[in-house]
Amino acid sequence: MDTRFFTTWMEEATAAVRAGRDHLTRLDAAIGDADHGTNLDRGFTAVAEALAARPPVTPGGVLVLAGSTLIRKVGGASGPLYGIAFREMGKSLGEATEVSAAELAAALEAGLAGIRRLGGAEEGDKTMVDALAPAVRALALAVQEGGTPEDALEAAAAAAEEGAKATIPLQARKGRASYLGPRSIGHEDPGAASTALLLAALRTAASR
Ligand code: ADP
Ligand code: MG
Repeated sequence: MDTRFFTTWMEEATAAVRAGRDHLTRLDAAIGDADHGTNLDRGFTAVAEALAARPPVTPGGVLVLAGSTLIRKVGGASGPLYGIAFREMGKSLGEATEVSAAELAAALEAGLAGIRRLGGAEEGDKTMVDALAPAVRALALAVQEGGTPEDALEAAAAAAEEGAKATIPLQARKGRASYLGPRSIGHEDPGAASTALLLAALRTAASR
């Protein structure tokens, strides 16, 4: 997977967030402050612009630029969290111009570690971690089993989607939704839903 692949991922993510913006905002209206879709749409629109204006020459460069842009443009909790995740992914890839599925799996793992370090959420706290952690596990397993990158990213996207849906019965223990206590039960976490969109965009990039 080369620089073009990672740029395509970010373009697909921008399109997916744009298409999902109102849905994400509705999810955030139920248990937050109704800004998650608009926050991310603003951020990824800026990411697409930044990549077009200053095209990076490595996969790591694409992800670091995406992360820095998200930190600058997305307010709220999710901006710094996604920002750090993409920056850590990019740093993990270093200066490589070609990335293997195993290296991508390690990069996603580093992104997850960044989110955990910054936000302190564990699985089950009803956050983006509930979608990303199972996706990272599914990707690592598929790579270990020697599947194609397409199959591995399909498995990761499916696990993220399942993880996001599995936040519905949970009570939030981190972020704004935690202020609602038991009233956060019965709603999908918006950040978990957007993480599933980002993993779906990664799968789409691989099928191109
Ligand atoms: P805000 O809550 O500040 O309005 P957003 O609406 O953009 O920010 O994002 C909310 C999402 O951020 C939540 O749905 C959750 O997935 C994620 N989130 C919030 N706090 C944390 C945390 N400490 N760790 C991981 N994810 C978190
Ligand atoms: Mg919000």
